[in-house]
Amino acid sequence: MTQPDNEVRPSNFIRNIIDADLASGKHDSVHTRFPPEPNGYLHIGHAKSICLNFGIAQDYQGKCNLRFDDTNPEKEDVEYVESIKEDVRWLGFQWDGDIHYSSDYFELLYGFAVELIEKGLAYVDELSPEQIREYRGTLTEPGKPSPFRDRSVEENLALFEKMRAGEFEEGSVCLRAKIDMASSFMVMRDPVLYRVKFAHHHQTGDKWCIYPMYDFTHCISDALEGITHSLCTLEFQDNRRLYDWVLENISIECQPHQYEFSRLNLEYTVMSKRKLNALVNDKLVDGWNDPRMPTISGLRRRGYTPASIREFCKRIGVTKQENTIEMGSLESCIRDDLNVNAPRAMAVLEPVKVVLENYPEGQVETLNVANHPSDESMGSREVPFSREIWIEAEDFREEANKKFKRLVLGKKVRLRGAYVVIAERVEKDEQGKVTTIYCSVDLDTLGVDPADGVKPKGVIHWVSAEVGLPAEFRLYDRLFTVENPGAAEEFEAVINPESLVVRRGFVEPSLKAAEAEQAFQFERTGYFCADSVDSKADALVFNRTVGLRDTWAKMGG
Ligand code: ATP
Ligand code: MG
Repeated sequence: MTQPDNEVRPSNFIRNIIDADLASGKHDSVHTRFPPEPNGYLHIGHAKSICLNFGIAQDYQGKCNLRFDDTNPEKEDVEYVESIKEDVRWLGFQWDGDIHYSSDYFELLYGFAVELIEKGLAYVDELSPEQIREYRGTLTEPGKPSPFRDRSVEENLALFEKMRAGEFEEGSVCLRAKIDMASSFMVMRDPVLYRVKFAHHHQTGDKWCIYPMYDFTHCISDALEGITHSLCTLEFQDNRRLYDWVLENISIECQPHQYEFSRLNLEYTVMSKRKLNALVNDKLVDGWNDPRMPTISGLRRRGYTPASIREFCKRIGVTKQENTIEMGSLESCIRDDLNVNAPRAMAVLEPVKVVLENYPEGQVETLNVANHPSDESMGSREVPFSREIWIEAEDFREEANKKFKRLVLGKKVRLRGAYVVIAERVEKDEQGKVTTIYCSVDLDTLGVDPADGVKPKGVIHWVSAEVGLPAEFRLYDRLFTVENPGAAEEFEAVINPESLVVRRGFVEPSLKAAEAEQAFQFERTGYFCADSVDSKADALVFNRTVGLRDTWAKMGG
């Protein structure tokens, strides 16, 4: 297991419980699990659960299983299984031993269901799903028993066997626990344990036509794997009664305990796989790994690093408090990482041509530019300089007040890592747009101030027009225009039309070697990474991971 950046162990109520369990001798080691359902790609909310479960295993020298909770074959797929494995590894974690699947336990689960029937604690019900709902009652009214509730053990055993043998249609029968139709916990009103589904399963093929429900499967899977602390999100709080009931009523040694923590919610995005799936299916994004998606694979393609996501999970902590985290918190984690770790480079996103009239035609001079302003260990690179260069269109104005510290007609500016230039005149097209800026260059200013003592006010970035490389820049922003898009009636209405803006410009030639996902700070424009899907050495594509500063905070969100 890679030992990430957690020299300081996080502290939270779950770790306090574990500390107490170890101190009291209730447990002598810790065993957790991360149990995704393979019905979609993992998102940043899952990262919270991954960091919690795997992080605990790491810090307590315990174990953490990866278990696919695969009891809904119709919605699941091996594509998701593979992506989940990849994402967990990429985040820097390794599961203990082999991968587990709840479906590994189907035979055992069937046996435990038979045991419950034999104990008079489960029955085959022939009410329809709608009737079951009706009979269940409400929060204020108790439910009423199904007319099939009191069948004999023998009859139930025979019917359950028939269910398995495929002799009933979907929805015509199910197996239910016999608990308490008047319980104040709805989950305890004779919950369904098994239903008939003639569905092909990605792991078990066509072997089964009955599938166990989550509440029955999860606790038993935990117990079979020797899980000590079963950590899940708050919506399962009531289900803990059922979790304990099942384990207390079957012959199984291990008694794991379930603890609940609050889900991660993030502003300006949605998190449920169902909603993310809708975005993909409705083609509102370019797949699960679209860099605007809150999926692990989307964040990765966007340029987030595993360390930045782990750091985010550490900063948000683990509590029972429901809350929604600002997108800015996630962004500041990647900014902090890349500020330290990303080499600098120059890219011009909206280019305008500059001609340095007194610079020799055809000459290309190699300048040495530091890769990081404060970390010498990152070395330097060669950046070619020439008579014609590109600068950012917004870095030039014919006239400007003193606040504008870039290139202005008649004024000096320094080109990053190169010379001081003065803008002399411009050429415009028919629309009056500046097409070329003619400058003179002071060739005595490489690394030193001008001899006349008049220092330029600002520094701007540039790329040689002779040898710079064309590149596409994908400027990503928040996918939605509203803080809580999950509440919107339809996504289409709240999609941010500016969530992807494409620019075509130029980058310095050293970026030809940029590898997929490699991060850079493009001087003055933001943090970018080479797109892992579309960037090629002869057709470079860079994704903007995040701007240099939090522009949303300034605008008040
Ligand atoms: P979704 O609603 O996004 O599909 P889920 O809970 O159904 O989420 P699972 O695949 O069942 O997804 O989740 C695997 C684990 O990840 C569970 O333990 C679940 O509690 C946890 N998890 C899912 N979403 C979040 C979240 N937003 N914050 C923290 N943990 C989460
Ligand atoms: Mg789920």
